[in-house]
Amino acid sequence: MVIITLSAAVLLWSFFQAPVTCAAPVRGRDDGCRNNATGILMGCHIHQHRWQKLKMLILRRRVREFCSGLFSDGKAALVTLAAVGSFLSGLVALIPGVVVH
Ligand SMILES: [Zn+2]
Repeated sequence: MVIITLSAAVLLWSFFQAPVTCAAPVRGRDDGCRNNATGILMGCHIHQHRWQKLKMLILRRRVREFCSGLFSDGKAALVTLAAVGSFLSGLVALIPGVVVH
């Protein structure tokens, strides 16, 4: 149970608290918004960017763009890997059968 709680905490942290760049699509810029954001799912202080990021997740065509934004710099990649790692460890903790194999 401890592992599940921990991995859930890390997951929530990286989604809503981690210090990453906003990376919301901005007209005329390839790398997107460079403002600081809190969490890989959240945008910066510009309200519109939050909705843009959420919309990217909903539109299937845009998910690839969103994913590449997750690895836009070292910091974002680290947070993403932490999220994925904690998600997987939480999954493994939930399914004891996986550990046996
Ligand atoms: Zn932004």
